[in-house]
Amino acid sequence: MKIGIIGFGASSIGFVERIKEIAPEIHIFEKSKDIFSSSISGIRADGKLFVSRDMGGDLDLDLELQKKLVDFYISKTEEKKYETGSSFQKKEYYNKFYEKGFQPVVSDFYHIGTDQLKEVLLNIYKEYSSNPAIHFHFNHPVQEIAIKANKVIIDQEFAFDQVIVSVGRSGHNLVKKIITRFPEVITDNTKVDLGIRYELPDHIVADLNQEMYEFKVRYKSRTGYMVRTFCNNPSGYVVTEHYEDFVTVNGHSKIKEKSNNTNFAVLTTIQLTQPFNDPIGYGSYIAKLSNILAGKDKVILQTYANFKSSKRTKNLYRVQPTLPENQYILGDINLAFPRRIIESIIDFIENLKSVIPGIANDDNLVYAPEVKFYSNRLCNQKIPHLYFSGDCSGHTRSIIYATAHGWQTAEELIHQYENDRSGSNKKNSRQ
Ligand SMILES: Cc1cc2nc3c(=O)[nH]c(=O)nc-3n(C[C@H](O)[C@H](O)[C@H](O)COP(=O)(O)OP(=O)(O)OC[C@H]3O[C@@H](n4cnc5c(N)ncnc54)[C@H](O)[C@@H]3O)c2cc1C
Repeated sequence: MKIGIIGFGASSIGFVERIKEIAPEIHIFEKSKDIFSSSISGIRADGKLFVSRDMGGDLDLDLELQKKLVDFYISKTEEKKYETGSSFQKKEYYNKFYEKGFQPVVSDFYHIGTDQLKEVLLNIYKEYSSNPAIHFHFNHPVQEIAIKANKVIIDQEFAFDQVIVSVGRSGHNLVKKIITRFPEVITDNTKVDLGIRYELPDHIVADLNQEMYEFKVRYKSRTGYMVRTFCNNPSGYVVTEHYEDFVTVNGHSKIKEKSNNTNFAVLTTIQLTQPFNDPIGYGSYIAKLSNILAGKDKVILQTYANFKSSKRTKNLYRVQPTLPENQYILGDINLAFPRRIIESIIDFIENLKSVIPGIANDDNLVYAPEVKFYSNRLCNQKIPHLYFSGDCSGHTRSIIYATAHGWQTAEELIHQYENDRSGSNKKNSRQ
């Protein structure tokens, strides 16, 4: 069985980890020029690993498998150093949020940090590249996939028995080409998360950060939209994320270097109905509109008071941004975002104030756009020999879920391979 894997991120690592014992020939195509410029969702992924049934994707994943994969990643760090904890373990916190209408999300987390994540990837790469069955093709952005006579052909040149597309969200151009050619693989494409990144001094959320590091809550706002916190970074940094033709905002934190601010995303989930079928297009347009206002390659920064009253921010007060000055413009997010999204975010933060005093301070910082795309949900049963795994399949949104999806995809292949083999053995013994 000759296997081709497109992308060397979390999901392909899970896949290779499970399949490497039985596959005689594996080729991994990665668009980054080498392992140092490549990484699990870019070098900015924060390295927070979650074990949870409630977040990370829509797969039903065994908690034991999730923990096993966490241990696998930790075992690949140099110093085996990580922060860990559980969210909402204390009933007192759970009840406090619940009482005010929030739905607390329960999970265990293990934070290995952006800095260590680079080591992890390098160590995994070193191990795989010393395996004679595994061949890396860096600097190879796959452009095209075709199916011919039971083989999957990559870029008209490389033929495989099975191909795993695990290109994450950054590979949406390739996925778009595939789904244009095989539209039957799409099972759902109506959702997008749009919102802001919120930044405030550590001391306002110090108790919460100490208690659970990652506080995740969902909230049904009075607009009807579901709003949630996402990716909390105590003593972290706000960063920009560059897509092909627009820039969004994100956050991360490091194990060794710390700031004095905490940042997290406040996201509104928008699920539209027929004839809508382009959530990526919708999210991208709003992101581009924000970039037009901010100037090319920049995001908008506003104080919370100005965000609420729709006034352009001219000066900041006590809270200083961790995003470098050349990456944002002081402006008004209300000129780019639809009103219902803005109202949902304000309702969320104002309600959070009743649980966390200081969270709605006038000089806290709001950055936009933060966009989380739900890739089209793709079905793996429609095109023989071609599988979608990880974030590009629309079923995962985290390192552990993507890795586990790769692992599960490998198990499916192994199962199928063993069935085929025992079928052909039976046939041979009858002849
Ligand atoms: C800034 C940021 C921070 C994050 N922080 C966290 C976190 O702390 N914890 C967490 O659980 N999740 C986090 N995530 C999400 C997490 O990184 C992803 O859910 C996960 O990496 C998805 O794994 P994947 O294998 O599907 O895709 P990826 O890990 O993105 O890997 C896809 C790979 O495919 C390559 N590729 C793309 N297109 C092509 C092509 N055409 N040809 C060849 N190669 C291609 C890419 O270069 C990449 O290496 C973060 C994401 C971002 C963007």
